[in-house]
Amino acid sequence: MYIILGLLIAVAVIMILQPWKRRACRWREDRRALADGRVLHRCAACGAELALPKGRQPAKCLAPGRGS
Ligand SMILES: [Zn+2]
Repeated sequence: MYIILGLLIAVAVIMILQPWKRRACRWREDRRALADGRVLHRCAACGAELALPKGRQPAKCLAPGRGS
C-alpha cells in the first residue's frame, strides 16, 4: 500500500515539476544591442546569446550544460 502511495506522489511531483521542460531557455530581448537590423537575445537561464532577425524568437536552449 505504501509503495503505491509513494509511486503516486512521485508521479505527481514529476507532473508538477516537468523536468524535461527545464532545458527551455528564458530568452530576453536586448534592445540596446541592435546591430545591422538584428536583435540580440540573451538567455536568462544559461547565459547563451543569439542574434536573430527582428521579429524572430530563439526556439531552444543552446548551452548543453547549465551551471547551477
Ligand atoms: Zn539557455
